Amino acid sequence: MFPKEFQYASPRSVQETVQLLNRFGTEAKILAGGQSLIPLMKLRIASPKYLIDINRIRDLEYVRESGEFLLIGALTRHHTLERSELVKDKVPILSETASSIGDPQVRNLGTIGGSIVHSDPAGDWGATMIALRASFNVKSLRGERSLDSDHIFSDTLTSSLSPDELLTEISIPIPPRDRSGGAYEKFERKVGDFATVGAAVQITLDKAKKAFEKIGIGLTSVAPTSMRARRAEESLLGRDVTLANLDEAATIASEEARPIDDVLRGSAEFKRAMTKVFLKRALIKAAGRAGVIEIE
Ligand SMILES: Cc1cc2nc3c(=O)[nH]c(=O)nc-3n(C[C@H](O)[C@H](O)[C@H](O)COP(=O)(O)OP(=O)(O)OC[C@H]3O[C@@H](n4cnc5c(N)ncnc54)[C@H](O)[C@@H]3O)c2cc1C
Repeated sequence: MFPKEFQYASPRSVQETVQLLNRFGTEAKILAGGQSLIPLMKLRIASPKYLIDINRIRDLEYVRESGEFLLIGALTRHHTLERSELVKDKVPILSETASSIGDPQVRNLGTIGGSIVHSDPAGDWGATMIALRASFNVKSLRGERSLDSDHIFSDTLTSSLSPDELLTEISIPIPPRDRSGGAYEKFERKVGDFATVGAAVQITLDKAKKAFEKIGIGLTSVAPTSMRARRAEESLLGRDVTLANLDEAATIASEEARPIDDVLRGSAEFKRAMTKVFLKRALIKAAGRAGVIEIE
């Protein structure tokens, strides 16, 4: 199918973009990688009157270290995050998450910012952003504000951005090097598919490398939005890295999850069971990467 007719703008700066957003409001849509928006327009589920293509704003595409943070421009492609040596060195779970998204074509065009604002609960970035406690910088003509990972997703396919706001930057706290580990485990029907369930874990161990000092757990595809498994996090905080504790946390997360039955990817009960399995795998992997040699 073909999209409905629309007007097209290709601004060269963030300022020009927010002016256009301010002028056209709910009638406009930002075009980033187009990997979600264009299919929706072709199906006429979305029919914006104005398309604001941000692909010429080079200032929105970067990955850089700034003090204790990794800063990522909203227009940075999944592929860049998959391959970047800086990312692999500082926050490797980002690279692992990126590599699980779709196929090379999708990763070459799709952007992290587009994925976040699209707010698909089956999108892989959401869980990892939650596990990492990322924050999100948004701009409009009214000014600038920052949203944290607990507040960026408002509902299924709905972010907390207002129609006149542009997501510009994602800020990730860099975990301490020698006793931190992260892992993203995705269960998919076949390579390139959206997640049936996904689990992102980012941990920091105490100095003895025995107990959890910090932990973030995000889940994909098991709730109306990407979901923080709060009770599972709390169950591990300050406790030793043992198989029994990891198992208990994974069980708690599977109870916190709110998946739905769907004909393609299985029943809610099945997804709960898979949440437990894949979260436990992610916890074991993250603990290993943080320096735990053997988990008893
Ligand atoms: C075949 C296929 C397979 C896929 N598989 C996966 C998968 O396995 N895992 C996964 O996570 N994703 C998957 N995707 C989705 C993909 O990751 C998209 O790239 C992503 O969801 C949207 O990013 P985009 O840059 O393409 O955004 P676009 O499609 O351009 O935009 C998406 C939405 O975000 C808004 N937007 C974009 N950027 C901004 C911004 N900076 N500020 C404000 N609003 C903005 C747009 O207006 C639009 O509403 C798949 C897509 C396809 C086509």
